[in-house]
Amino acid sequence: MARKGHTAPRGASRGGPRGLMPALGAAFIGVLLLGVIVFRALTGLIHDRAEADAEALLAQSEATIEGWLGQYRALPPLYARDPRVVAAMKGAPRPGDLDALGRELAEWNRIARTSDTYVMAPDGTTVAASNYAEELSFVGRNFGFRPYFQEAMDGAPASFFALGTTSGLRGYYLSAPIRDGAGGEVLGVVVVKVSIAALEAVLGEGAHPVFVSDEAGVVIFATQPGLRLTALEEIPPEARARVEETRKYELERIGPAPLEGQAGGGWGAPLLRAPGIGEGSAPQSYLSHERPMAAEGWQLHLLYDYAPVRQQVWTLAAALIAAGIALTALAALGLQRRARLIQRLADREQNQQELERRVARRTAELTEANRQLQVEVEDRRTAEETLRQTQNELIQAGKLAALGQMSAALSHEFNQPLTAIRTYSENAAAFYEAGKADRAAENIARVLRLTERMAQLSKRLTRFARRSGDDVVAVDLDSVLSEALALIAARVERSGARIEISGRRGLWVAGGATRLQHVVMNLVGNALDAVPPGRAPEVTITLTEDAGQVAMTVEDNGTGIPEEALPKIFDPFFTTKEVGRGLGLGLSICYNILRDFGGTMRAENRAGHGARIIVTLKQATDRQMAAE
Ligand code: ADP
Repeated sequence: MARKGHTAPRGASRGGPRGLMPALGAAFIGVLLLGVIVFRALTGLIHDRAEADAEALLAQSEATIEGWLGQYRALPPLYARDPRVVAAMKGAPRPGDLDALGRELAEWNRIARTSDTYVMAPDGTTVAASNYAEELSFVGRNFGFRPYFQEAMDGAPASFFALGTTSGLRGYYLSAPIRDGAGGEVLGVVVVKVSIAALEAVLGEGAHPVFVSDEAGVVIFATQPGLRLTALEEIPPEARARVEETRKYELERIGPAPLEGQAGGGWGAPLLRAPGIGEGSAPQSYLSHERPMAAEGWQLHLLYDYAPVRQQVWTLAAALIAAGIALTALAALGLQRRARLIQRLADREQNQQELERRVARRTAELTEANRQLQVEVEDRRTAEETLRQTQNELIQAGKLAALGQMSAALSHEFNQPLTAIRTYSENAAAFYEAGKADRAAENIARVLRLTERMAQLSKRLTRFARRSGDDVVAVDLDSVLSEALALIAARVERSGARIEISGRRGLWVAGGATRLQHVVMNLVGNALDAVPPGRAPEVTITLTEDAGQVAMTVEDNGTGIPEEALPKIFDPFFTTKEVGRGLGLGLSICYNILRDFGGTMRAENRAGHGARIIVTLKQATDRQMAAE
């Protein structure tokens, strides 16, 4: 039963660790989802920051370009106002004047660090130039087809990007009309050409490639050499016509730009694969940003290096994976601990229940035992009551039995004095007749003594046979002993026994005189019985007193009590004597008598031979003595 009850919850409790796997799965999925959400949010942030950074760099690049171009923008209008320039262009030019102007222009050109500075007549022919002395001098050449010339002739300063027709180098042309006084007739045009390479060098110092495309979609300057003078897309026909007309660059030499679209960088922004800034550097991935430069009609492009962004994303992913693993491990640990805790609690609960069950069972058993005990006590009490009732009967019966045993001795006891009395009486009569009165009186006195003795014996017998009461009173142990021994005197005499009383005398004990006599008679009788025929019985009764307890030891020189009989001799009906000689009730009755007086009795064997019965009794109290 108990085993069954024990194993059932054990089986159920194994559900704990089994439930761990789904919980762990859920935790893992939760961590995964959380990781994806955090990853998306953070990559979004990284990209937003990259975009914002790119926009800022774009604005910065535009400012650089504008600033760089702007520093040259004032030069042509200033040159156009110079009196030497105006004078040279007014009326028919003199060759000497133009030479002088050429030298002046060369000086200005050197100071302003521009590429070329020159003056054009209204027909487009260059009349003076800073490079007048060089092999590829502009002097005499006609650039009337260039828009910067036409626009300046129309009265407004202009600017234009083009490939130099003479030098073949890319340049930025800035022009201004030469007027004959304020608001006067346009006499010609002053032009300043600046080299784009210098601007490219400035832009190339940045970390991210920058390039500029014109209206036709052709890259006119770029930090990457490979991109210069390439077309971002197919040039539309009208644009082609315009390029040809202005001889901006040679269309046939313009190839497609080495750019390649790329799949998005994880959040959908288009990537561009393009060569890096340095000469011959390998293509890389970039975020492409662009904005129009309205003043020039250009488009400014910034290629934002994507490698650091990608690096950040990878680092983030790695960190998240690590965090995810750590979180999952933590969750697993936590769940395992929790499961263990639950298991432990369940075990404790189970143990508690088991304990409670055991306690309940034990309590029930104890209650039952207690009840049985009560029943037994009740039974015992009833039995004792019955026993007590029968005990008195038994004592009485015992006494009568003793009297029966004594009857032979008694007849002897009475017959002997009777015979003597008859003899003494006959003697007295004879002496009386013979006139010897004094001898007759002597015999009569003997007769009187004998009758006195008989009367005493008879009184004792009557007292002994009387039913004794239940009271416990103060009893003189000496008289108990002498009375008891007197009652069995005949038997003692017949057996030739010697009875010796030693120790304290004059002791008073709590008890009943007749019942104590019965005890003494029984013990002495047993002692006489134990001595085998042919040996003279020797019985010693020793009296001692210690701390309110009186001990009476009866020792004999008999056979002793057999070892196996020792524990049983006080049991009723235990006897070793032959049928008719013993009932086995003597010691049992004595035991109960002594118990009623608050006394005890035990038996042991003497060292050499014979038995020793030790009786203890309470010394009589002062109150009992007073009552007596
Ligand atoms: P009974 O005398 O009728 O046998 P008792 O109760 O007086 O019954 O004695 C029980 C038994 O105890 C005796 O039969 C005897 O074997 C043993 N016994 C008692 N007193 C002595 C003694 N002094 N020496 C040896 N045996 C004894």
